[in-house]
Amino acid sequence: MSSLLPPALLAVLQARQPQLWLNPELGSPLPATAPTPQAVAEAEMRLQGCAGLLADLFAELATQQGQIESPLLEADALHSALGLDAAAGRTLLKCDHALPVAGSIKARGGFHEVLAHAEALALQHGLLQPQDDRRLLANPAARALFARHRVLVGSTGNLGLSIGIMAAALGFQAVVHMSVDAKAWKKDRLRQRGVCVVEHEGDYAAAVAAGRLAAQADAASYFVDDEHSLPLFLGYAAAARPLAAQLAASAIKVDAGHPLFVYLPSGVGGAPGGICHGLKQLFGPHAHCFFAEPVASPCMLVQLASGSDEPLSVYDIGLDNRTEADGLAVGQASPLVAPLMRGQLSGIFTVTDDALFRQRLQVEQRCGMALEPSAAAAVAGPAWLCGSTEGQAYLAAHSLQQHLPNSHHLIWTTGGSLVPAQEHQQFRQRGLLLQG
Ligand SMILES: *Cc1c(COP(=O)(O)O)cnc(C)c1O
Repeated sequence: MSSLLPPALLAVLQARQPQLWLNPELGSPLPATAPTPQAVAEAEMRLQGCAGLLADLFAELATQQGQIESPLLEADALHSALGLDAAAGRTLLKCDHALPVAGSIKARGGFHEVLAHAEALALQHGLLQPQDDRRLLANPAARALFARHRVLVGSTGNLGLSIGIMAAALGFQAVVHMSVDAKAWKKDRLRQRGVCVVEHEGDYAAAVAAGRLAAQADAASYFVDDEHSLPLFLGYAAAARPLAAQLAASAIKVDAGHPLFVYLPSGVGGAPGGICHGLKQLFGPHAHCFFAEPVASPCMLVQLASGSDEPLSVYDIGLDNRTEADGLAVGQASPLVAPLMRGQLSGIFTVTDDALFRQRLQVEQRCGMALEPSAAAAVAGPAWLCGSTEGQAYLAAHSLQQHLPNSHHLIWTTGGSLVPAQEHQQFRQRGLLLQG
């Protein structure tokens, strides 16, 4: 199967050398089944419609009117730390590591899917009418209904946190299947919230498969399927419009003369894929999306580079999918998302575990933000684009060089604010040792 990849690319992947891979199929048409702007708008409206409910359920959201949103910040100090100057444009951070309640990007897709399910159940049982205030989903009748239903998910950690927290808050029985590589503190936190945590030997895919199987046996169960879920994808895609508003509020233009480069850490591909899809719907060719993947787990790169929708995993080419970036330790890309990225994704760069810890430290020292290692994966994006042969080739192919000084590089940070201080201390130590 690995013969599907060009030999030179295969050699770099197998040697676990960091690289920037450019997607030769960028600009090819979307599949006919691709989510429409209308589908994304419905997800946006659902999240807006549930803001009052969320503010009631979570005290920490009361001050922000139930909005699950994160700051967009200028990061000039990081820009220069990355070796870039004004001729390369400016660097921004989209701070999803600070998303409230769930502390990671998974709040977007995960909350959306659980809310959509709760809404559907309540409608079906006559406890809610389409135009009703979603606060009704927190009343005793709805809670009693949800208490008779289970929500299951398989996860390496952050998706489990997001789904588990929201499902438990609504009164569902929440069950999270986790792989052994999931961090102990994530399991502890879920159990504190009354979530049932089931542990599995094996990797992320094994945990997902176990959750899926458990749900099949039970009619009152709903399984959030990270490898196939459209509601998750749409929840992520709904991030695009609020981001566009933040850019506009900062007087940052996105058009032919002002390209926006977006760098996103990718695991199974749902979160970064949804966001890329949403951004392309709003900005078309002027948003250039790049994913970051660990050298041990470049599943989206392998899938897209194969040029086929037949599944190809990192195990198939002899990689072991072992990385400290637990949120990105995925061997096989989502079969829902990969075909959607074929025509929309600009490229993918890979990152070693050592670089993750160095980059994490860079963000902490320059911007004062504590990320989890996965969330620092995209930090090298601007340097790949502006400083590598491949990046220069991309800029030349799209006639972007003369616009680079007017461009923005948006690095998406994806998790970290719930990580215990003691864990951050260990991450920091490891970064300091590498910094020498
Ligand atoms: C899950 C996760 C990602 C990637 O999202 P996918 O949908 O798996 O691609 C990135 N960063 C963090 C911290 C995550 O938890």
